[in-house]
Amino acid sequence: LSKTRNLSNVLKDRLPEKYFSILEEVGMLSDELRMNAYIVGGFVRDLLMRNKNFDVDIVVEGDATVVARTYAGRKGAKVSVHDKFKTAVVILNGDRIDFATARTEYYDFPAAAPEVESSSIKNDLYRRDFSINSLAVQINNKDFGKLIDFFGGQKDIKDKKIRVLHNLSFVDDPSRVFRAIRFAVRFGFEIGPHTKKLIKHSVNLNLIERIAGVRLFQELKYILSEDNYIDALKLLDEYDLFKYYSAKEVYNSGKLENLENLEKIYSWYTFQFSEVCDEIYKSRFCVLFSNLTFKEVVNLGERFNFSGKMRDDLIKGLLKTKNVVLKITKTKEVTPAKVYRLLNPLSNEYIFSVGALLSQKDDYLIKDYFTKYRNTKLLISGNDLKKLGYKPSKLFGVVLEKLLDLKLDGYITNKEDELNWAKKLFREHGADG
Ligand code: ATP
Repeated sequence: LSKTRNLSNVLKDRLPEKYFSILEEVGMLSDELRMNAYIVGGFVRDLLMRNKNFDVDIVVEGDATVVARTYAGRKGAKVSVHDKFKTAVVILNGDRIDFATARTEYYDFPAAAPEVESSSIKNDLYRRDFSINSLAVQINNKDFGKLIDFFGGQKDIKDKKIRVLHNLSFVDDPSRVFRAIRFAVRFGFEIGPHTKKLIKHSVNLNLIERIAGVRLFQELKYILSEDNYIDALKLLDEYDLFKYYSAKEVYNSGKLENLENLEKIYSWYTFQFSEVCDEIYKSRFCVLFSNLTFKEVVNLGERFNFSGKMRDDLIKGLLKTKNVVLKITKTKEVTPAKVYRLLNPLSNEYIFSVGALLSQKDDYLIKDYFTKYRNTKLLISGNDLKKLGYKPSKLFGVVLEKLLDLKLDGYITNKEDELNWAKKLFREHGADG
């Protein structure tokens, strides 16, 4: 421990009151139960970096389930306990507090390690991914705010470095390769030179192949959810990691252009409608893999071990997006009605992807769809058709659909037009009013 730093003032200043109280209360309770308690991980990192992050992760030396149960009992909060792993989640007024018991098994420290105190929190922190995520702050009353920094996390935050804690880190968990990239781009940090070398080794040793499909997808999803994901894609390319997603080249300058188009359309959309899209990663995913064939897309879903639900959403979404792009590109005369019929069945994420994959001169199709076509409504309804004397049948749907197309394409401008066209259409279908 280089310097003992106390963060109680930082906690007081930077945390909303309710979180500060939770930490104080859990700390005092842990005193009562004669256990040590710490906040750890991203919460501490983001506290030091002044980023908002109120995912409260508490690690207890002793038994976290006892602390969690007692705390929840006193606060009248909900608790769910995982006895086998000695972890628990408390939901207090809608806030989630994670409790875990410090994990001590497996690790022997080399004799050379500067072992100031061989506490189990140290073992727990040693199992973590990067130094910036290995910080803890004690919350027991006597030591409230004491910063625990065994692995140089503070220095690495200052130096803007992503660094693993030991040489076997990526062997223990190869998915950390993707986490390294994610944190690097999120914070604008560099991956440290030694850590870089270890990433290259793990790629050369094909350790990445061991990552379970679900996880491989998760990591990509997280990366694609970052604001700076384009920088992350550059790193994925640099480390030759795309090959674990597809044998075909997916990342090149053309793709970058498509992704830039996507971001332009998406910013236009958020500005226009003051609305963000929670799952924008889906659009990015679609554009990234847009050059795969049907079979390759299906294989990708299999590699990710997708459940039926994910297959129906992402894999089908990608296939539909490709199909719509193809149709729009091949259609000689792209009318508003045709655009409407193609885009309307897609959710917004996939519509953005369609826009990104069209040539830029066709941007207006997407913009017009959002601002005009999708809100186009007929002035008449099935009731008006009944009033004209037609009997309700499937034909109503057909006629109303055709009327909307005519309206979209500008053939119909008022209610009278709609009624006249309706009659004409019924006549064409051999129905009398
Ligand atoms: P985010 O803001 O993305 O949630 P986070 O640091 O809170 O960042 P989590 O994935 O929620 O990230 O993980 C919480 C903590 O658990 C991390 O800070 C890290 O200490 C540890 N951790 C998570 N995943 C791993 C992993 N694969 N290997 C080692 N430690 C991990």
